[in-house]
Amino acid sequence: MTMKPRKVPLRKCVACQEMMPKKALIRVVRTPDDGVLIDLTGKKAGRGAYLCGKIGCFKLAKKSKAFDRALKLTVDPVIYDQLEQDFIAVEDEFNAAKERDDDDDES
Ligand SMILES: [Zn+2]
Repeated sequence: MTMKPRKVPLRKCVACQEMMPKKALIRVVRTPDDGVLIDLTGKKAGRGAYLCGKIGCFKLAKKSKAFDRALKLTVDPVIYDQLEQDFIAVEDEFNAAKERDDDDDES
């Protein structure tokens, strides 16, 4: 890759409020039909909220209803439960992909 942007886009985790590079965060998107989904591609259309790739931050977001505020939507507790399961399912994959990316940067 020759075109490496110098400025890393930062986003804030909705749970712990930490600013992080976009690719270190998992995006949660509000779809046009008011669904809420985890968006690993980061490219789905809709209002997005960002979260560290850590289940601890998800639990914090769930407890504080951070997605309700970030997505300007009343998120049903059932949706939070579903998202939590999805989050756990993608967490390992996400962190593995992140580590592979880091290796690429060094080589
Ligand atoms: Zn966080």
